[in-house]
Amino acid sequence: MNGYDQLLKEVIDADICVSCGNCAAVCPLQYISIVDNKPVQDTQKRSEIESRSGLACNDCNICVMSCPRIEPSYFWQKKELERAKYDGKPKAARTTYQPIKDVCQDGGVVTTIFKYLLDNNLVDGVVVSQYNENCAPVPVVAATEEDLLSAAGSRYTVSSIYSPLTDLKKLKDKGYERLAIVGTPCQIYALRKTQAIYNRRNMLIPHNIITFAVGLFCKGQFDDQILQSIDIDKAGVAGFDVKKEGMIISFKDGKKKIITHEELDKYTRAGCSVCPDFTSVYADISVGSEGSPKGWSTVITRTEKGRQLYQKLIDKELIESAEVDEKGHDSIERTLRQKEERSRVNIEKRLGLT
Ligand SMILES: Cc1cc2nc3c(=O)[nH]c(=O)nc-3n(C[C@H](O)[C@H](O)[C@H](O)COP(=O)(O)OP(=O)(O)OC[C@H]3O[C@@H](n4cnc5c(N)ncnc54)[C@H](O)[C@@H]3O)c2cc1C
Ligand code: SF4
Ligand code: SF4
Ligand code: SF4
Repeated sequence: MNGYDQLLKEVIDADICVSCGNCAAVCPLQYISIVDNKPVQDTQKRSEIESRSGLACNDCNICVMSCPRIEPSYFWQKKELERAKYDGKPKAARTTYQPIKDVCQDGGVVTTIFKYLLDNNLVDGVVVSQYNENCAPVPVVAATEEDLLSAAGSRYTVSSIYSPLTDLKKLKDKGYERLAIVGTPCQIYALRKTQAIYNRRNMLIPHNIITFAVGLFCKGQFDDQILQSIDIDKAGVAGFDVKKEGMIISFKDGKKKIITHEELDKYTRAGCSVCPDFTSVYADISVGSEGSPKGWSTVITRTEKGRQLYQKLIDKELIESAEVDEKGHDSIERTLRQKEERSRVNIEKRLGLT
């Protein structure tokens, strides 16, 4: 079994799809689209192809090879994790730019990185996630500071960040030759896996114009149903944050509502249970909050490109940078190990090894 049918059986029906949208972005037939966070096939195209060739699609299997949830990804990832695991040198940082401070999630480092890249013409656009009227993230290509500011902050439901990248020609026609992107660890893994395959084969895909990747720390994500289930005035929401006490929803009028972890657990996405990466080891720069004081971001630079960019932000006084203290190191290390262990246990259960 190949192609979409394999994804359906091994990923979507197995409930480990992370809804990254990567399969839709890479399919040369544009045969897959993301509907309600699920990759679905175009049935009309399928029957046309089947009647011509007897195959469900052109069987190139690119969607399967690029999917972050298809083997040998786990073993590859595990191996890479050994190499690239938390290097023990995170920094605490925060933006110096007030308009970003006003809207960001933690220290505003992610939005500051993208503002710097756009202002200095180092990229033409950035794939970020703005929010719809239901507070769900919607991936878009941002080209201005205004676009970036309207996407700042974290939403804890899925954003299929590769959905805007299904048509390389259209992107290039719009002037997007170099893009940056921000996503969760699984999404950044999808990027690197795809780039590795396509670079080797020298093929043209949108992933090859992604020149900078920011990865977020992530313990887990929730199904969209959580947004439907909570009785709140969505237009009045200022932001979401997940902390020890649960999900804190802040409103523009200063009020807050807390959804406890017990309630949240019902909505945690099944695929998160097998995910081993907390700190986005494949990013150029990883950013989270764990380990740093309130109002600061924790930053781990992962590549030479990432290190140079971080230094530029300091030199240009766009961010303040400080050391993460021992308590901060310990909490990152602890969460990282807990996530790896949770993933190991759940993968072994799924494989019937325990
Ligand atoms: C689902 C999720 C889970 C997280 N879990 C943790 C955690 O367990 N521990 C931890 O320390 N940090 C976690 N984070 C990261 C944290 O919430 C902040 O995003 C991070 O600290 C960066 O803060 P900032 O102020 O620099 O970001 P900002 O400058 O506010 O920019 C945030 C960027 O993230 C993008 N974004 C928002 N929501 C999503 C989404 N759902 N998918 C993809 N991109 C999105 C926005 O478009 C924006 O560009 C999580 C983030 C997400 C989205
Ligand atoms: S096998 Fe190729 S043509 Fe078929 S759905 Fe996957 S990417 Fe598209
Ligand atoms: S590529 Fe992403 S959206 Fe597609 S099946 Fe795999 S995990 Fe799901
Ligand atoms: S826990 Fe893993 S699979 Fe779930 S959203 Fe975060 S990075 Fe993706």
